[in-house]
Amino acid sequence: MNGLFDPGEMFVRLCGEVGHLSERLTGVSVVDAYFGPDELHPDRQRKDREGEELHAYLMAVADTAREELTEPPLRGEYVASEAESLAKVVEWLDGRSVSYETLVMGFFGVEARRFPDTVVEGLRERVAEALDVTDDSQLFESVVSFEDSGRVEGAELKRVIEETLQPRAKEIGRLFAERVFNCLGASVTDNGVKYEAVQDRAWGGYNYYQGDYRSINQFNIDRSFNRDSLTNVVYHEYGHHVSNVWRERAYREHGYTELSIVPLHTGRCVISEGVADTVRDFLGVKETGWRSVIVNALRELRQAVRINAAYMLNVEGWTTSEARRYVMEAGLVDERRANAILRFISPETEDGRVNFWAPYVYTYYFGRTEYVLPTWERAVETNRTAEFFRTLYLNPFSGSSATWNEAFDWLR
Ligand SMILES: [Zn+2]
Repeated sequence: MNGLFDPGEMFVRLCGEVGHLSERLTGVSVVDAYFGPDELHPDRQRKDREGEELHAYLMAVADTAREELTEPPLRGEYVASEAESLAKVVEWLDGRSVSYETLVMGFFGVEARRFPDTVVEGLRERVAEALDVTDDSQLFESVVSFEDSGRVEGAELKRVIEETLQPRAKEIGRLFAERVFNCLGASVTDNGVKYEAVQDRAWGGYNYYQGDYRSINQFNIDRSFNRDSLTNVVYHEYGHHVSNVWRERAYREHGYTELSIVPLHTGRCVISEGVADTVRDFLGVKETGWRSVIVNALRELRQAVRINAAYMLNVEGWTTSEARRYVMEAGLVDERRANAILRFISPETEDGRVNFWAPYVYTYYFGRTEYVLPTWERAVETNRTAEFFRTLYLNPFSGSSATWNEAFDWLR
């Protein structure tokens, strides 16, 4: 330690500051969760530092982390890469013009690109097959009526949340304990995910890791949801919950201060979303019902369409109405859903601010297909799933696109 500052602690403080900056400029804080010491709480960090100074501090943290955080081996690289991603966030928000491709690479280590039309066409054909529709002109209608039949709102939605989602989350928790934690040779407190129906909110759904090994998932029952996609949400969110539970344990038991804050727009997100989308593979859960087959085909199609539309809007300069038409036609969605998709991926929000979420679409699919799934499949093939889980959960520094391949080098 050179005595100037503790890089882990400094990282937490700076995350809080970048959180204030992103909240002021976009309405969204880059800090997703915090469970660290009171004096490092984001609320207690400076709100007025200039972007350029913040950027310089983050780069200094990256250098110091690489030099000083040498144990365990991936710790320095993990913290450094998180700090560099946040420096890129500051560059972006501070008005220095940074291309979308540079952002996606700088935040996530992922190359921004779009799928060829033939891939989208193939995914669309799978939807048609699942729905047993041979006449393409009827596909859109058929998808809309399938999705309408799964729509829930109001009192019925409240019942689904309390009577279906909550018990399902408990069941997933039990499966994790039995099939994953059991082979770790270490235990962790898991206070579970609480599902709640709320009203009068500006958002549709919200999930939040609260610390103390618990998460909360809220749904605004003033809006309507699809019963089938809600079921998918439970697995995904439990995946995030479990990653956070082990992260909190590593902070509390080993004193890794930098893990007590969870920032968005870093290499961590790629692995976190990739893991959340691979939970069913980890647990060996296969859904074979006819509705799930359709839902999964639709989900894959829309994932590809959403990525393509993001690329068109942010790189190729398509207008909102051109992108909306593409999303509706290629993704088989009505205008209301197309607008919801556009709100997530457009370069600007409706009130003309920078859209914080625009680059984030690159985490889910690539996190799963380029990092988590191939590594998991290799572990299954070679009978090393217990070691896979140990690397994933007992070493939280493996959980970034910047450190993943090195962390799983033993599996090659
Ligand atoms: Zn997620």
